[in-house]
Amino acid sequence: MPLRKTVISVSSSFWMKSLRHLVVLSSLCSLICGYSQRDRVHDLMSRYPLIDGHNDLALQLRRLHNNRLSQIDLHNVSKVATDITRLQAGHVQTQMFAVYVMCGAQEKDAVRLTLEQIDVVRRMCTEYQDFELVTSAQELKTSEMRHKIACLISIEGGHSIDSSLPALRMFYQLGVRSMALTHTCNTPWAESSSKLYNVFQRQNDSLTHFGKAVVEEMNRLGMIVDLSHTSWDTAWAVLKHSKAPVIFSHSSSYSICDHGRNVPDWLLHELKKNRGLIMVNLHSNFISCRDEANISHVADHFDHIKRVIGAESVGIGGDFDGAVSFPQGLEDVSKYPALIQELLQRNWTENELADVLRRNFLRVFQEVEGVRDQLSVNQPSEAQIPVAEVQNPCRLVLRPPDLRRLTYDQNPSSTAHHGPKGLLILAIVMLLSSPFLIE
Ligand SMILES: [Zn+2]
Repeated sequence: MPLRKTVISVSSSFWMKSLRHLVVLSSLCSLICGYSQRDRVHDLMSRYPLIDGHNDLALQLRRLHNNRLSQIDLHNVSKVATDITRLQAGHVQTQMFAVYVMCGAQEKDAVRLTLEQIDVVRRMCTEYQDFELVTSAQELKTSEMRHKIACLISIEGGHSIDSSLPALRMFYQLGVRSMALTHTCNTPWAESSSKLYNVFQRQNDSLTHFGKAVVEEMNRLGMIVDLSHTSWDTAWAVLKHSKAPVIFSHSSSYSICDHGRNVPDWLLHELKKNRGLIMVNLHSNFISCRDEANISHVADHFDHIKRVIGAESVGIGGDFDGAVSFPQGLEDVSKYPALIQELLQRNWTENELADVLRRNFLRVFQEVEGVRDQLSVNQPSEAQIPVAEVQNPCRLVLRPPDLRRLTYDQNPSSTAHHGPKGLLILAIVMLLSSPFLIE
C-alpha cells in the first residue's frame, strides 16, 4: 500500500473515531446539563419553596364532594389539580386557599356559605399532618422549618361579609388573613372588573365611604387587601387609601394579554408605590387571551412585569381549580418547577426567583402586620353602611334606622334595584316596629 494512501486511511479512521467520541461526549454533556438545570431548579425551590397566592381546591371540594372530606384522601384527589402529593412535588410550601361563594349568594346566604368554606379549609389543614393552618408571617416561616404545607385562608369576594365590619372581624378571628374586595359582582361598596352581574352598578363611585372603612379596618386587623377581580378604578382608589401594601393575588399583565382581569402598566406603577405585589395568574385565557397557552407565554408576563416594576413586586398565584384551561406543561400544582426553569433560561437570577417564589410575599405580609401594630391603639371601627345602600328582603335591621340616610336619591343603583316603593315600605315597617328593636 503506498505510504500516502496509508496516511490518509489512518488519518480518516482517526477523525471518524474522534467524531464518534465528540458525539458521545456532547450527548453526555447535554444529558448532564439537562439534569443539572433541573437539579438547579429543585435545589433553588427547596431553599425557597413557593408561596402560591391563589387556589380554589375548596370550591371543588364543595362542587364534587359537598365538602365531605371523609369521602376522599387529600394525598391523591382525582378530577382536581391540587392535592398533597402534587403540592409537595411542585415545592409549594404555602398555599393561599380561597374561600369563595358564588355571587348569586349576595343578598342571600353568602355569610353562611363562606363559613362553610372556611370550615372545610380549616378541617383540611388540621386533619392532615402535611398541612398546617397559619395566621401570621412568623407561623408561615416556622411551618417551613417543620416541613409542612402552610394554609392561609383568603375570602374571594367582598359580598362574603354582607357589608358588615363585625362580620369581617369575626372572619379574621376564624383565621382569614386576606380578602379580595369583589369577585365578579359589585358589592354595595366596591366595583368589580366584570360586567357579568348588573347589581350595584355605579359611576364615579368605585370605592364608597363604607368601602374606605372596609379597607381601613382590614389595615387595622392586619388582613391583606386583594385587588384581583376589582375594577381598575376601585383598585386605584384602594391603592390611594390603603396604609398597607396590597396584592393582586391572581392577575397577570394587561400589556401582554388585554383581558379586564389583568393589570395595566399605569396601575402596576401605583402598585409599586404602594410596595404591593402582583402574583401572576396562570389561567390560559389571562395568559394568551386564548384557550391555549404555553410556558413561554407565561414567562412573557413575568418578563414584562419585571421590566415595568421590578422582580421585587412579582409573585405567583396559580388559580388552579378556579379556572378551566392552563398552559401546556403547567396543568397542575406539581408543575411549578417547569416555570422556574423557563425563567432561569431567560436569565432571571436565583436572587430574583427567590423573591418571586417566596420573599416578596413574606415582605408584604410582614409589612401588613407592621401597619396593624402601628394601628393597634385604634378601636374596632363602628362604621355602618347606610341602610338604603344594602336594604333587601333578606336583611333584618335590628337597630333604629337612620332616616336621614334613608333617601331615594342616595344610591341610584340601590333604588334602581329595589325601587322607591320598597324603601318606603321598609321605612314604615321599621318605624312601626321600633319599640321592639334590639339596641
Ligand atoms: Zn378568582
